[in-house]
Amino acid sequence: MKKINVTQSSMPVFEEYIEEIKPIFESRWLTNMGEKHNELTKQLQNYLGAENVSLFCNGHLALETAIQALGLSGEVITTPFTFISTTHAIVRNNLAPVFCDINEDDYTIDVSKIEDLITEKTSAIVAVHVYGNLCDVGAIEKIAKKHGLKVIYDAAHSFGQTYNGTGAAAFGDVSIFSFHATKVFHSIEGGCACYSAADYGKKLDAIRNFGMYSQEDIGEVGTNGKMNEFSAAMGICNLRHIEDEINKRKRAVIYYRNRLKNIKGIKLCKEKENIKYNYAYFPVVFDKCKFGKDRDEVMKILADNGVFARKYFYPITPKAECYKDEFLQFSLPIADEISKNVLTLPLYADITEEEIEFICSLILR
Ligand SMILES: *Cc1c(COP(=O)(O)O)cnc(C)c1O
Repeated sequence: MKKINVTQSSMPVFEEYIEEIKPIFESRWLTNMGEKHNELTKQLQNYLGAENVSLFCNGHLALETAIQALGLSGEVITTPFTFISTTHAIVRNNLAPVFCDINEDDYTIDVSKIEDLITEKTSAIVAVHVYGNLCDVGAIEKIAKKHGLKVIYDAAHSFGQTYNGTGAAAFGDVSIFSFHATKVFHSIEGGCACYSAADYGKKLDAIRNFGMYSQEDIGEVGTNGKMNEFSAAMGICNLRHIEDEINKRKRAVIYYRNRLKNIKGIKLCKEKENIKYNYAYFPVVFDKCKFGKDRDEVMKILADNGVFARKYFYPITPKAECYKDEFLQFSLPIADEISKNVLTLPLYADITEEEIEFICSLILR
């Protein structure tokens, strides 16, 4: 039986990558802000429409470091419906996450519930453009201004997206992206932080390199978040083909939508007209009462036929084992409900229409 996994990494052709890494063999400069690193930084500033870009060895360290560089304290309002990385990045900075419920239609943070959670200890909002559904950035900006809060976007799912023509990287004090092998754009492992304040960038880059402002000035308790040259070279290759990658994914999503729309008990995300999407994920929410089978039953039928969908995101992050009963006080009925019923279906650039047809026919049967 042929296996269809939830995702498959896109690759440049072998020769293209070899050509890109040749100079690294000549220079023997393998990491620490080398030529490929600096080239990719410039290209991403341009592509993402960001004033400043700092590359990282992965998206998680970009987020953790981005939060540290803001010098926050106390409480941070955030979403429970995300990859566990978002919550860990807050907790690992010794900040207390305060979980806000999500919208029923796009699963991003429900901005109407943020203000009730603000206390004198609140210092920031960490929101996530989950599945590439952009948050209500205007409302979040208004709330943040009114209460003097910083805004951090985990934009790991939003590479290359725009909102009314503005790149997703432009919102908040800082936005982070992930270039993990499973993401729309990848550098094997990698990530970046985008921001406009230059002084913030100095601090961020110092923390990225063990807290060193110079060889003798170690001004921050830093980490090692640098991107190496081989990853940067992979990023440069993949960025050349990004429009093709997104268009291929779009074709797959259109096929899925046509087959699964207007089915009782199946809810798909609505696309908004002012957002240019990257088609990173295809989440489907099952309502057992109307559909006849629940999410876990559908997932099992697919797996029995070699199709491996994933429960992104289950459990909601405050219910992760490591947090025990620390976060049980938060009322998160919508995040709970979506998390129990959502399944992300296989989606990648080279998935064929026959494969999508096979997946949809299994679900509809
Ligand atoms: C992938 C992802 C991350 C972490 O990125 P890595 O590059 O894997 O470290 C963080 N947040 C979200 C929402 C993600 O999907």
